[in-house]
Amino acid sequence: MEKICVAVRVRPAASEESPNAAHWKVESNCISLHRSLGTPVSGASYAFDHVFDQDCTNSRVYELLTKDIIRAAVDGFNGTAFAYGQTSSGKTFTMNGSENDPGIIHRAVDDIFQKIQMATDREFLIRVSYMEIYNEEINDLLTVENQKLQIHESLERGIFVAGLREEIVNSAEQVLKLIQLGEVNRHFGETNMNARSSRSHTIFRMVIESKGKETSSTDYLSSDDAVRVSVLNLVDLAGSERIAKTGAGGVRLKEGKHINKSLMVLGNVINKLSEGAKQRGHIPYRDSKLTRILQPALGGNAKTSIICTVAPEEVHVEETKGTLKFASRAK
Ligand code: ADP
Ligand code: MG
Repeated sequence: MEKICVAVRVRPAASEESPNAAHWKVESNCISLHRSLGTPVSGASYAFDHVFDQDCTNSRVYELLTKDIIRAAVDGFNGTAFAYGQTSSGKTFTMNGSENDPGIIHRAVDDIFQKIQMATDREFLIRVSYMEIYNEEINDLLTVENQKLQIHESLERGIFVAGLREEIVNSAEQVLKLIQLGEVNRHFGETNMNARSSRSHTIFRMVIESKGKETSSTDYLSSDDAVRVSVLNLVDLAGSERIAKTGAGGVRLKEGKHINKSLMVLGNVINKLSEGAKQRGHIPYRDSKLTRILQPALGGNAKTSIICTVAPEEVHVEETKGTLKFASRAK
């Protein structure tokens, strides 16, 4: 079983805070809450594999949290990277990036095509899909007509989303165009862009298939000739904020319940996985669509990393603590 890599990233403050405000301090791989004048708050100190402060770039996050997953994916191992955190804490910034500092998805795509170009002894077939889970319904972001898709399981294909578009791609540019299409489709017919995107999980997926090239110098019985298939998921999760704070009713409340449930199930699955093989017992993958879809690339030989994004402002202290507790359970 691979260890799950857990990191926390603090985004820059959106506005200037009063000098008396409580604040988070980052020191090497620890993050702790301090009152004004710098006195630490007891019981509010946490350690992770990595803690990134506001000056950290997406490039560094990629190097430390995703690069190994990508390398393994090209070599035939499944992998998943998540961004978890409350709305406006920096999940999408981390996954999609900005013009000056491309996010994890962009960097992963570039890296994969670079690696397969160098692997001259193998042939690759790469497929891309992009979906969202909204209110426990799976929608295809590459084809708007594909709504409310079902999860199936077969001996041949394992667990799969029936009817999901899978596009064969040959270059990084092609993938980035598909992502753009997905972004346009996601916001199709929406009045409030941010509202929906913060309430749905989006899963960007690449399936990497390869087999050894037949050359006169290689023994055709060698194991390198076997076909390798790996699945890579890059996941921008729904906002983790509790419903109470948003004061929601009706549709919002229903959305909130689904989000809370699937994030809770994800937490339970990851917690079980991090406990190690012996104590683990039953892993509740089936309790949510999110964990069911990700099941083949969570646990076992799969490489997993979680980046938990937090907001530095005092008003968000309770949500930040909630995120740090989620992150602690994943270690
Ligand atoms: P989320 O996806 O978690 O709701 P966003 O990624 O949209 O949050 O971030 C909210 C805002 O903060 C955006 O304007 C984003 O550009 C900015 N932001 C988030 N993280 C960073 C960062 N590390 N550096 C600079 N700006 C950031
Ligand atoms: Mg977002």
